[in-house]
Order: sequence, then C-alpha cells, then structure tokens
Amino acid sequence: MSDLNATREAAASKVSKAGGFPEQEQQPPGSTTAMNPVPDHGEDTWVGRDRLVGLKALITGGDSGIGRAVAIAFAREGCDVALSYLSEEQSDAEDVARLVEEAGRRCVLLPGDLQDESTCRQVVDEAAEQLGGLDVLVNNAGLQWGRRNSGLADLETEEMDRVFRTNLYGLFWVTQQALEHLGEGASIINVSSIQAYDPSTALIDYAATKAAINNFTVNLAAEVGPKGIRVNAVAPGPIWTPLQPATKKGESMPKFGEDTPLGRAGQPSELAGAFVYLASPAEASYVSGTVLGVTGGKPVF
Ligand code: NAD
Ligand code: MG
Repeated sequence: MSDLNATREAAASKVSKAGGFPEQEQQPPGSTTAMNPVPDHGEDTWVGRDRLVGLKALITGGDSGIGRAVAIAFAREGCDVALSYLSEEQSDAEDVARLVEEAGRRCVLLPGDLQDESTCRQVVDEAAEQLGGLDVLVNNAGLQWGRRNSGLADLETEEMDRVFRTNLYGLFWVTQQALEHLGEGASIINVSSIQAYDPSTALIDYAATKAAINNFTVNLAAEVGPKGIRVNAVAPGPIWTPLQPATKKGESMPKFGEDTPLGRAGQPSELAGAFVYLASPAEASYVSGTVLGVTGGKPVF
C-alpha cells in the first residue's frame, strides 16, 4: 500500500461508519483527550516531504482539531510554528508543542483571547519576533454555538457577540497585524466552512461569519496580490474535533457527518494536505482568492 493510501485508511478507520460517534457533550472550548474516540491529527501517519522548509507560520486555534493537524504537518514539512489558543487549553497546546519539537522544529505557544484587539496584535508580533519572521498565517480559531432548537428566534446576543468577535473581528485584527510582517511569497489561509454554502438553521450566526470569511478572502487577495502575497480559504465539512461535542447537543453526535456523500465525518488529519498545499510557495504559487472545500463531497459553490 502507498504511504498516501495508508494515511487515508488510518484516518478513515478512526470513524465507525455504522452508528457513528457515541453520544457526548463537553463545555466549550472542549478538550481533545476527553473525546471518544480521540481524533486523528496525523500523529502516526503524516510523512513530511520538505514542502515548507525554512518557513515560519502562525496558526490560530492551533491547540486542537484542525489547527493541531496543520501544526503537525507543517512541522514535519520543515516549518517552525507559533500556536495561539485559549488559555484553558494549555494541556492540548503542550501536546502539540511536543509533537512539533519531535519533528525538529520550533514551537512558540501564545495563549490569549482573540476577541480582544490588543491581544490579537500582541500574539502576531510575538509570533514574528520569537520565530524571527512570518511567512504563513492560518486563521483557524473559531467558535460556533449549536445547542439551539432552531434558528434566529433562539439566538442570544451574548452568544452571537462571541461568535462574531472570535470568527470575524479576531480574524480581521490578526490579519491586519500580520500584514506588517508578511512579504513577497507569503500566504494567508482562512478557515471557512461548508456552512457558508449549506447553512444549518441552528448555526445562523456562525454560518454568516463563514460566508463573510469567503468574501474577505477574495477581497484581501485582490488587495495584497500586487505585493506577492496569496490569500485563500479552506472550507471543511463535518470534522471530528472538540468543537463538536463542546458546542452541539450530545444526541446529535451519533449521526454527525452521515449526511455527506462519503457518509462519514472527516478526521483533522484529512484536512492537513489542503493547508500544506496552499502554504507552499512552490506548489500553490499561482493560487490565490480561492476556497478549497474538504467536505466529504458536499459542494462548495
Ligand atoms: P477546535 O475547537 O479544536 O479548534 C478551535 C480552536 O480555536 C480552539 O481550540 C481555541 O483554541 C481557538 N479559539 C476559539 N476561540 C478563541 C478565542 N476567542 N481566542 C483564541 N483562540 C480561540 O475546533 P476545530 O473544529 O478544529 O475548529 C477550527 C476551525 O475549523 C474553526 O474556524 C471552525 O469554525 C472551523 N470548522 C470546523 C468544522 C468542524 O466540523 N469541526 C467544520 C467547518 C469549519
Ligand atoms: Mg481546543
């Protein structure tokens, strides 16, 4: 079996296709080790091929889920990383730092709440200072709140405010500050969602932020293209990360991901390749202003 098939098989085998995941709930932001089963971030499978050698990346929300898989893959491809995350998740972040260092790369840990403008600016400047520059920004930190019965009528201002501040304000501030450090050949990768195209009524605020992130991606790509900076987004489908049991009703977990053409949720490890590709100045040199879907078959157009 090829390396690639072995990787795919290892990821897919973590999901029981019949019956899905056990019922479970956590409090946000959620913890990786409390999940059943623990997600696959490519710990045992990602094989680096020197695709990002010498680059320096800041990954927001890099402690768990998709961000953790990206951090592991980036490190094994030769990239030093800085991770931003909510401080409640220190032990998740320390686990990622250990994996990055085992790959022979530097890992800078930057806890802080990106709902706050000055924290956003500090996190970016600290990442650039400690890594000695910045080449890639992955805007991955995000929040949803899905324990609602329906849509707009159930939307509470406090939850909506937190979702908009985390997913949009934080992303705008972090990106604005990062552009002080990014130069020709650099790239920005935003994390969108299938929710931007096929929104669920219970996620009406979250889905709107993800549609806005797609619009921001295209607009910023136009602005910074002349400087040789590329801007893209990845739109994941249903992915098994702490975000799910931490923000959705426990009884929805067994069916999570079943409504995709591939009939299952994805593992974080199955997202990493999209990020490595978009970050690579050699492989994606002419790719900007696009949204790459990793959705298990749901359309992103
Ligand atoms: P996750 O909970 O593992 O990761 C999100 C991380 O964002 C958190 O761990 C936390 O450290 C960070 N974060 C949240 N609020 C923050 C704040 N205010 N300040 C700083 N950091 C903050 O979940 P995930 O599923 O890996 O989410 C990563 C991204 O993927 C999010 O943008 C999410 O919207 C997106 N996404 C996830 C799915 C999915 O099914 N899991 C689908 C589509 C899109
Ligand atoms: Mg987390």
